[in-house]
Order: sequence, then C-alpha cells, then structure tokens
Amino acid sequence: MDSVADPRTYDLDALRARILPEAEGTVDRSIPQLARADPDLVALALVTVDGVVNSSACADVELSIQSAVKPFLFALALEDTRGEALDQVGIEPTGEAFDAIKLESGTGRPPNPMVNAGALLTASLVYGEDVAARNERIHAGLSAFAGRELDVDEEIARNEHLLGDRNHALAHLMRSEGTLALGVDDTVAVYARACATMVDARDLALMGATLAAGGRNPVTGVNVVSAQVARDVISVMATCGVYDGSGRWMRQVGVPAKSGVSGTIVLSAPGSLGAAVVSPPLDDQGTSVRGHRASEILSEDLALHSFATSR
Ligand code: GLU
Repeated sequence: MDSVADPRTYDLDALRARILPEAEGTVDRSIPQLARADPDLVALALVTVDGVVNSSACADVELSIQSAVKPFLFALALEDTRGEALDQVGIEPTGEAFDAIKLESGTGRPPNPMVNAGALLTASLVYGEDVAARNERIHAGLSAFAGRELDVDEEIARNEHLLGDRNHALAHLMRSEGTLALGVDDTVAVYARACATMVDARDLALMGATLAAGGRNPVTGVNVVSAQVARDVISVMATCGVYDGSGRWMRQVGVPAKSGVSGTIVLSAPGSLGAAVVSPPLDDQGTSVRGHRASEILSEDLALHSFATSR
C-alpha cells in the first residue's frame, strides 16, 4: 500500500489543479442565483479533529450551503428535542431524488433527514417560539458549527421560499398526515433560509470536523451538540447523505458526506477530520462532479475509507 499522507500538510492546491480540468456536470438552475454560479470555482478544505486547518485557493469564496445544511439541521433538531426527533423522521435511504414527493409508508413520516421532506421536518423541530426565534436558533447553531457568525443571503432565501413548489407540496403532505406541527408556509420559509446560509469551504470543513470530533468545535472549543447527536447524524449521512447516489458514494469514497445543489459537499470522518469540496457543476443526482472526484482522491490519499483495510 502507498504511504498515507498527513492531512495537516496535504497539498490541496495540487489536488485542486488536478480536478480543475474535469468539465462534466451542469450548474443547478432552480433559482437565478444558483444558475449564475461560476462553473470553474473549485475550493477544498480540511480541518482535523485537533483543530488544524488546511485549505486550497478559493477556500474563502462564499456560496449558499443548500442541502449540505441538512445534517446540521438534523443535529440541532436532535439536540433541541433531546433525541425525540428520531421518533418523527425515519432513517432509511430512499434510493430516490432529494425532492421526491414521498413519505414513509405506514407512518407518514419523512423517510430520512437528508431528503427535503426530512429536512423540512427537522427545521420545524428546532426550538423557537415563532419563525423569527427558530431562524435565530438555526443561525446561531450553524454559526457555532462553523466557528464564526455566518451570513444569510436574504434574496436566495426569498427565492427558495417562493420557487420551492415541491417543498410546499411536501409540507402539505406532511400536514395532511399529521406529522408536521408547524404551518406549511412557515416551515418552508425556515428551511429555505437555512439553505441560504452563506459558507466557504473552510466553514464547511470545520462544520464537518465538529461532527467528526463528537460535537465539539475543534477550533473554538465550543460544545455545539452532544457526542451521541454527532454519532447519530454521521450514521445517517453515511446511509442517506448523497441521495440516490449514496451506495455508489460509500463504495467509492467511503466517508459519510452530504452534498448540496450549489456544489457543496461536506465530509465527516469520525475521530479524524472534516472536509469540504466545493464546485458548482453537478451530476444527475445533484452532487458536485469535481467534488465527488476530489473526495475519492482525498479518501485514497489520506486512507479515510471506512471499510478499507491495510491488507
Ligand atoms: N434548496 C434546495 C431545495 O430544497 C436544496 C436542494 C439540494 O441542495 O439538494 O430544493
């Protein structure tokens, strides 16, 4: 076996240069701000569980977090409900697209927190007396994961809310099943605003590292969620994080991860590191093409695959 590289000194700019020529994939067009994304943006970052940050060029370019927020919404919902969120959302992979209009048969619960139905529900479970308070709790929680005060792009939030017909449909469906306590429009608004949180690759890597370190931010030292919550979230990222591409991802990369349609991917290797790979062109499942390729290489070079042995 080739020698294993050290994540603290690993040459992320060399990896960036290697994947930059990859030209496959298309930028998401669901809202105008995403359609205007730079298809040549590539940024990578790693944060070890002892707080060493390593990043490439462009790691400070911000974009909306989109579905890479879902593990963190799940984490905040678990924390705020003392684990009871697990009674209200399933944890089984669907093998279907992120916005499939489908609930768990028999229970009417969303199938898992990594698809839109589940993330709408977990957003509604984060504690807050009204929409403003819930938004504030989510904003503070995401900022604690990232170790700095994050911005929200209000225009993206508004467009996600207004143009999110399928999200409204999912929320209506959950209301009709009695599984969503909050109103439809409020639920979609809270979720849309969470997706519009602005992060760069470094933020996202630190968010992943906080889960990988058992819920304690390894740079700020703040305990953001409990170790049990971090473990639950990473488990579900492993099985459901890359939607209907989760099986292929696990085989090829072997690191629990969550992708988003802006081209964000956050990875959490428990006890080891968090990583982020950002590049807007997406494959058919809504995962960054360059991000997937870079994650495979990182996993190989840093020996991160969960199921590889050294034989
Ligand atoms: N804002 C997007 C939606 O809910 C997120 C989808 C994604 O990133 O996969 O439609």
